[in-house]
Amino acid sequence: MTQISALLRAGRTFSFEFFPPKNDEAQAVLARTIVELEPLAPSFVSVTYGAGGSTRERTRDLVVQMRHETKIPPMAHLTCVGHVHQEIEDIIAAYVEAGVENVLALAGDLPADGTDSPPSDYIFATDLVEHLRSISDMCIGVAAHPEGHPRSPDMTSDRQYLAAKLQLADFATTQFFFEAEHYVRLVNELADLGCTKPVIPGIMPVTNLSQVQRMAAMSGTEFPTWLHDDLATMKTPEEVRRVGVEAATRLCAELLEAGAPGLHFYTLNRSTATREIYAELGLPVG
Ligand code: FAD
Repeated sequence: MTQISALLRAGRTFSFEFFPPKNDEAQAVLARTIVELEPLAPSFVSVTYGAGGSTRERTRDLVVQMRHETKIPPMAHLTCVGHVHQEIEDIIAAYVEAGVENVLALAGDLPADGTDSPPSDYIFATDLVEHLRSISDMCIGVAAHPEGHPRSPDMTSDRQYLAAKLQLADFATTQFFFEAEHYVRLVNELADLGCTKPVIPGIMPVTNLSQVQRMAAMSGTEFPTWLHDDLATMKTPEEVRRVGVEAATRLCAELLEAGAPGLHFYTLNRSTATREIYAELGLPVG
């Protein structure tokens, strides 16, 4: 049973996100992280994809490596930007052959520097989900944005497009956020639109204040004043990490209490914060 939809039907999932390493040094860091996280027996791991195919081979290599060298089912991220139908069909055929059963279908973003990206047969993630459904039996996840997508003109249309997308998919994983109420509101508003598919909250423990502030600004995530103030008064990186992990642990506990079907950790290819949260929450291990 390695389809995430089946895992979600069986109970809560606890999962980790990695990005494909760029060089030998980053590769060594990730290899150590995987060794340290494997004993937590995550339900699945997911591997990001550089929009436009910039990490096409590296994403595939890491996904296939996880599939063959660990017991953890992998999920491959895939984006619309810069891809035509035939390329997606080739990528999916290779995953199916390797025994990979899960894909996260995303729009991706155009290059921030304004450079042209190759032509694409898809505009929205929904277009990619529809095509994936027509060519494979893979389990398909999609992205959800609890505080709305930064390009959305309003929250109402954002939720309607998300509900329609999620109805075609099997589950959603969210952008990271720092207040449980954003997740609860998202799930309730989707239910009001008739969509009750599982939505797994994405967790980003703050281990570096300026790094996460930058990422939050890019993704339209509110960085709460209380969290900023708590972190900004810390004198050492170790204290920042401790306070960030404590805040993430409280958020995880609130989300589980609110009925979240799982937790998805943005690991940034490191293991320590995730392991500490696991220990604090007493999550199932091994
Ligand atoms: P969509 O669902 O297409 O939505 C994008 C915007 O279009 C939203 O404003 C939506 O409301 C609107 N919209 C949707 N359908 C329609 C329609 N029919 N008409 C008009 N408007 C519409 N990016 C990467 O490049 N690689 C990754 O690996 C990656 N992983 C991610 C993982 C997660 C869990 C998340 C939350 C995001 C990830 N991203 C990744 C970022 C993602 O690609 C960007 O946030 C992107 O801008 C939006 O992707 P989406 O799939 O949510 O887009």
